[in-house]
Amino acid sequence: MPELPEVETFVRGLTPAIRRTIASADVLDARLAVSAEDLVGARIAGIRRRGKYIEIDLGDDRSLVIHLRMSGRLRLECRECETRYTRMILRLDDGQCIYFVDPRRLGTADVREAGFELPLGLEPLDATFTTAALAELASQSRAPIKQLLLDQKKVAGIGNIYAAEALWRACIDPRRKANELSRAEIGRLHKAIVGVLGEAIAQLGTTLGTSVSDYHPTATETGSFQNRLAVYGREGEACERCGEEIERVIQAGRSTCLCPACQR
Ligand SMILES: [Zn+2]
Repeated sequence: MPELPEVETFVRGLTPAIRRTIASADVLDARLAVSAEDLVGARIAGIRRRGKYIEIDLGDDRSLVIHLRMSGRLRLECRECETRYTRMILRLDDGQCIYFVDPRRLGTADVREAGFELPLGLEPLDATFTTAALAELASQSRAPIKQLLLDQKKVAGIGNIYAAEALWRACIDPRRKANELSRAEIGRLHKAIVGVLGEAIAQLGTTLGTSVSDYHPTATETGSFQNRLAVYGREGEACERCGEEIERVIQAGRSTCLCPACQR
C-alpha cells in the first residue's frame, strides 16, 4: 500500500498540472463517488498530500480527494495510456492527462466542499510534529507503539513499512506500550520517523514487486528505498546493526519485522 513517501512522490509528479484547466474527464468506474460534471471546467489551484490522501484543489472551494488504498496510482502522462485498470482520466487543457489507475479498485475519489477536514492526526513532516507532540500522543496511549504509529488519527501517513523501519532505527520493540517509552526513546523515534520518511521520498518510495498492483512512481521507474529496508520483509536475514536474525511477529493481525536483540 502506498504510504506517505509514495503518495508524496505522486503529488510531486502532479505539480505541472497546477493552474491547468480540466478540459474533459472520463470516470470509468461507477464505484467512484465523482462524476465528470463535477470536474470539467475546474482550474486546478493546488495539489497537496495530507497523510495518505491526495487533495486536488478545484479552485472553487471544492477539492477532489483521492485515497489510493492498496494499489492505486495517480500520475500525469503526456500520452494516452489507458489500461483496463484505469478508473478515471482527467484531460488537461495542455494535452496532459492525470490517470487514476487502480488494479484492485479499492481506492476512493470524491469531491469535498471547503472546510472539510480529513480525520487525520499530525503530519510527520510538518513543523508541528515535534518530539514534544509525539511524547504527548504516546503518553495518552496504552497501545503498542507500532499500533499508535499506524493510527492515522494520531499520526498521518505511516503504514506497515515505515513504522517497522522507524522502530528499528530507534531500537524500540514495536510491542512496547506507547505510554511506557522514555523521553529519550521518544526522541530517537521522532528522529527516526522524520529521517526514514525523508530518505524514502528522496528514493521515490519503496517498490516491493513487479506486478501491476505494485507501486511505481512513473511508467518507467521504480522507487528504490526497498534496497535500504533494514527489517521490513527481511525475516531470517541478519540485522545489519548487530547480526541477530530478524524475526517476524504478528501484531493486531499484521506482520511486524524486528530485531529481537537490538530493539528493546
Ligand atoms: Zn539488531
